[in-house]
Amino acid sequence: MQIPKFAATPHTFHADLKKRINAYFDQKGKSMTGNFNLYLKAAVLGLSFVGLYIHLIFFTPVTTLAIGECVLLGCVISAIGFNVMHDGAHGSFSKRKWVNMMAAFSLNVLGGNSFIWNSKHNIIHHSYTNVAGVDDDIDIQPWMRMSTSQKRLKLHKYQHFYFWALYALLYILWIFLLDYNKYFTSKVGEVPLKKMKLADHFNFWFFKLLNGFLFVALPILATGFMSWLVGFLIVTTVAGLVISIVFQLAHTVEHTAFPVANIETNKMENEWAVHQVMTTANFATNNRLVSWLVGGLNFQIEHHLFPKISHVHYPALSKIIRQACADHGIVYIEYRRVHQAIASHVHFLKQMGRAS
Ligand SMILES: [Zn+2]
Repeated sequence: MQIPKFAATPHTFHADLKKRINAYFDQKGKSMTGNFNLYLKAAVLGLSFVGLYIHLIFFTPVTTLAIGECVLLGCVISAIGFNVMHDGAHGSFSKRKWVNMMAAFSLNVLGGNSFIWNSKHNIIHHSYTNVAGVDDDIDIQPWMRMSTSQKRLKLHKYQHFYFWALYALLYILWIFLLDYNKYFTSKVGEVPLKKMKLADHFNFWFFKLLNGFLFVALPILATGFMSWLVGFLIVTTVAGLVISIVFQLAHTVEHTAFPVANIETNKMENEWAVHQVMTTANFATNNRLVSWLVGGLNFQIEHHLFPKISHVHYPALSKIIRQACADHGIVYIEYRRVHQAIASHVHFLKQMGRAS
């Protein structure tokens, strides 16, 4: 397939934004990467993960407590993904390259693959957000229809009910099916993966085996098959739901756009930065607990415009970006509360299931 190009119009909005954001960092004298609070959060999350894992596997508590710990472990895994892995993969976690690499590598221990994530998320999703046929995040076909350019099937009429079940399965599917599919086809959707070096192949297999040992073999040996199965399903269901919901609220809600390239020129209508604002929404940015847990992924407009800047700066940047959008006449989409964003996602799914 032909990857579309962005309009070659003068990048006035992007240039103005960069000027304003650089002026902010010059004035404050701050680094654009993470700070002590972020590293403290990473340590709390890392230790929580290890503590919960060891307690569940080697000192298995009574059933009710074990279920609670499994739910918590699912949340901690998601939070490591949002706060450590995601920032590391974008190179915004630290000034030091090796620290970013280590942060990004946490995904491999948790069952994913950092090489494939880099192609899927950093390159494809961040460049061609909500462009059907390119952005893999909106390709849940044939099970769900996430854009009017995707084929509608009868079952999509009910997608605003059954999406919960699919989102709950996301983590298991990601680890055991989707990564292998991308690895063996060397593609993310229709877009070819960058060529993997020998070390990338080694990492893929080594960490998939390590993950299988840590999350399947060892827990079965230590706690028995049924205990592992119940615990594993709780952890992966919680992680799948949390990750899916946080990522979907950013782009697939009622007010975000799904631009398509011009059929003749294969060019997108707007410059890249305008495209990012039109296709992205923020949610619950005043909620400090949500902001802490999701690593700034509720400030998705800021993240999509400046993915290489750490999320710890997004609350301050959002004021500047909001003003710039108002000055350029670009709509800045934000849902004040989490439940409003979820309701909008459900309405969006209902529309996609019914619209022709
Ligand atoms: Zn990102």
